[in-house]
Amino acid sequence: MALLTKAPRGTQDILPKDSYQWRFLETVAMETAALFGFKEIRTPTFEHTELFHRSVGDTTDVVQKEMYTFTDKGNRSITLKPEGTAGAVRAAVEHGLLADALPLKVSYLTSCFRYEKPQAGRLREFHQFGVEMLGSQSPAADAEVIGLAYEIFKVLQVQNLTLELNSIGCPQCRPKYHQALKAYFEGHKDELCETCLSRLETNPMRILDCKSPVCSEIAKGAPVVLDFICDECREHFEGVKTRLDKMGIAYTVNPHIVRGLDYYTKTVFEFVTSQIGAQGTVCGGGRYDGLVEELGGAKTPGLGFAMGLERLLLLLAAQQNELPEPRACELYIASIGDAANIKAGELCARLRDEGFYVECDTMGRSVKAQMKYANKIGAKMSMVLGDSELESGKAQLKDMDTGESSPVELGEELTRRLYDAGLARATSELSDQIGDADILRLLGQQE
Ligand code: ATP
Ligand code: MG
Repeated sequence: MALLTKAPRGTQDILPKDSYQWRFLETVAMETAALFGFKEIRTPTFEHTELFHRSVGDTTDVVQKEMYTFTDKGNRSITLKPEGTAGAVRAAVEHGLLADALPLKVSYLTSCFRYEKPQAGRLREFHQFGVEMLGSQSPAADAEVIGLAYEIFKVLQVQNLTLELNSIGCPQCRPKYHQALKAYFEGHKDELCETCLSRLETNPMRILDCKSPVCSEIAKGAPVVLDFICDECREHFEGVKTRLDKMGIAYTVNPHIVRGLDYYTKTVFEFVTSQIGAQGTVCGGGRYDGLVEELGGAKTPGLGFAMGLERLLLLLAAQQNELPEPRACELYIASIGDAANIKAGELCARLRDEGFYVECDTMGRSVKAQMKYANKIGAKMSMVLGDSELESGKAQLKDMDTGESSPVELGEELTRRLYDAGLARATSELSDQIGDADILRLLGQQE
């Protein structure tokens, strides 16, 4: 196919027939986060490259191999964001948000860019829903953040997703673990891949995350970090587990999770599934108590998670979870002749003001062709306006399902009939947040 009509490798168009699923996921995620007090933050699509070197870390795959980095016309090194945390934390520091009441809780939806080998559940532009919670050291914060991810999956009725939990310690206990890891991997020096050989010197924990089959086999026998964490980290981890237990959130401790980004400390977690192939991590997150300081802010603990929306959709599809479809057209107003077409447009404007989804002819088609279109878009009701309807101010309102028609006046009565048919979205609610009520409606749990 010609270059012009093909999207770049690893990217994906989200077409009108599917976009409602995205909108639904995004709404559920953002609205559920709002119930926990998270407010949306929007940060730029690109940042100074240095930001990711500092936060994500120089020895990670993301920084070493996956970033979309370029020099702009002002000779700055710029990188399309490979993840959302760095930008959110940078913004919090830049705008002094950490001087306000803590904790700071922010949520976001964003595109992320990583130069990876495209496959199912792995793209070069993908989408994340994420949250960051800054200011609390308490395990209560960890439980809240994990609880939020859990709640979102619950609302979406996701099954077969396991929460895996680990603690990877802090700068106090990490060096001892690094030593043990180094000693272990030294013994396998001839087998490790080249990248891991350099990791052995710079950051041996990264070897545990290597995707090469040989390295990951060796990694299975490596000492586990949980055996090395200090008393404070252990106590913190116990605090997280106790809270999750009480909240009824099941988890398994997986001492092999280390996560792919350098900034993590203490708690790390993943929600994983075996239902969508090799890329089974739908959500990953953890604590990053050193990150704010690393980015030039005052020492402030924090944590967060990000879920990959492509993987979440794959999982929902694999489980045949039907997401609520968007509203279909409620009324199609067909017309014969110019005067009737103008009247149809006028009625459409009025009814849309009321919150109804109505359409009329904009193609100059015959009535027959207009009705064919009305059928195609699944209109629930229809009417045909011609000279006599204009004169009498009445038309036949047809129920497209049953085929039954009855006369209706084109004024107030028409509006009332549409309301009576239960079609309207209450306009007063529109000015409210499109919030809980809407989610419930979408989920079919009508009040
Ligand atoms: P993986 O081990 O699968 O490469 P990761 O550790 O690099 O994941 P994170 O940086 O933690 O991933 O990103 C959080 C979430 O974003 C992942 O759990 C996943 O759902 C999603 N994600 C990461 N990279 C991609 C990608 N290239 N394509 C689609 N989704 C992705
Ligand atoms: Mg990755």
